[in-house]
Amino acid sequence: MNPVASHDQAAPGPEASVLIIGAGLAGFSVARQLRSLGHTGGVRIVDPEGLPYDRPPLSKAYLLGHTDQAGLLLADAAWCREHEVEILTGTVATVRPGAGEAVLADGTALAADVLVLATGGTARKLSIPGGDLDTVLELRHRADADRLRTVLRPGTRLAIIGAGLIGAETASAARELGAVVVLIDPMDPPLVPAVGPELARRLHAMHTEKGITVVTGIPETITRDGEHHRIALASGEQITADAVLVGVGITPNTALAESAGLEVDGGIIVDERQRTSHRRVYAVGDCARTRTTGGVLKRRAEHWENAMNSGHQAASAIIGGDAPAPRADWFWSDRHGVHVEGVGSLTAPGTTVIREADGVPVMAFRVDGEGYLLGCAAVDGGLAVKAARRIIDRRIRVDPAQLADPAVNLKKLAR
Ligand SMILES: Cc1cc2nc3c(=O)[nH]c(=O)nc-3n(C[C@H](O)[C@H](O)[C@H](O)COP(=O)(O)OP(=O)(O)OC[C@H]3O[C@@H](n4cnc5c(N)ncnc54)[C@H](O)[C@@H]3O)c2cc1C
Repeated sequence: MNPVASHDQAAPGPEASVLIIGAGLAGFSVARQLRSLGHTGGVRIVDPEGLPYDRPPLSKAYLLGHTDQAGLLLADAAWCREHEVEILTGTVATVRPGAGEAVLADGTALAADVLVLATGGTARKLSIPGGDLDTVLELRHRADADRLRTVLRPGTRLAIIGAGLIGAETASAARELGAVVVLIDPMDPPLVPAVGPELARRLHAMHTEKGITVVTGIPETITRDGEHHRIALASGEQITADAVLVGVGITPNTALAESAGLEVDGGIIVDERQRTSHRRVYAVGDCARTRTTGGVLKRRAEHWENAMNSGHQAASAIIGGDAPAPRADWFWSDRHGVHVEGVGSLTAPGTTVIREADGVPVMAFRVDGEGYLLGCAAVDGGLAVKAARRIIDRRIRVDPAQLADPAVNLKKLAR
């Protein structure tokens, strides 16, 4: 295994041919950014699903039927032609960084000066009896959402295992479609690491308010009984459902990197410019995990904006441009008519400050011992989170009393 490439390696340059493996947001962002930075070399993206499309609507607008397949596309065929980005439909079976080549499952070899791994992740299956039943649903690809849509009718009993971001969003959409939803999670409340306990409790309580049955428990088996499924919990409780969806996170797709001898540790290891341990290979998005120049192995991010930003980093590193300034990690989620946003970390060492409106928690902040803001999450407070992000990125000291005061506009603190 090679160590992560050194930071002073020469950039491939604007004429290098680039093969991007994976047409999710991260892979597409590399291509789009290369072209907008004036890259003149060939750019190809290969993916079994063809044209690049966006995943967040799969658990929201697309599941609800508010947008169609065309509405999911990140770029259509005309855009790709105009920007000379070639889309190849296929699955890469092997990468050979030394030879500058990727080989498709059908044996076709594709040569390139630079390979970009943008392979995303695979929905985790539950390692319990019945967890691998082919009727147990997951939600990662457009086809998964199509399959889920066909079973979601008024009155369908849907059991969702995992009440994290995707489980909660799907529960909300399924309820809106008239399904009878049971949401199962071992944690009460879930999502504490993302939004802190106060907001997590408020968000979790909304499920019950919307008519969803919330169950705290650990599934032990899933059995199929004709048209139905039965989930047995460790507590002895049994849940019968017409359909079961598992939303318990993803496993990063690192197999190509591993078999090519790249450094992998819970993700494909990259430096802050998305360079892997081989000088010809970059990795971006959900499959990549950053080790900082200081040697800190960061948590792998699985959010939309990270996919986009890491694509931008890789593109500028490939052409030899300056690194875009790093920003605190940001995510959003929508459920039950509310919009949730989070930035930075709510689990880093420090203390939590809560802002309430009419006795209800609306924002959570994490502040370190020196008064620097580390993280913030809000329900229906997108502008305030934007300001909080500026405060974090600019390392502005904050007064916890002001953070807690709903009369204080965070924008003023960000100046
Ligand atoms: C249902 C859903 C809802 C979400 N909602 C939100 C949200 O509200 N907010 C938020 O911040 N984030 C959200 N996310 C997360 C966000 O969408 C992901 O972080 C982002 O899509 C990651 O992009 P990616 O390009 O790294 O990976 P992916 O989008 O997974 O793309 C990877 C691509 O690689 C391809 N691939 C894999 N292996 C190969 C191979 N061997 N050869 C060729 N191609 C290959 C796959 O087919 C896939 O198209 C959501 C994700 C999902 C699934």
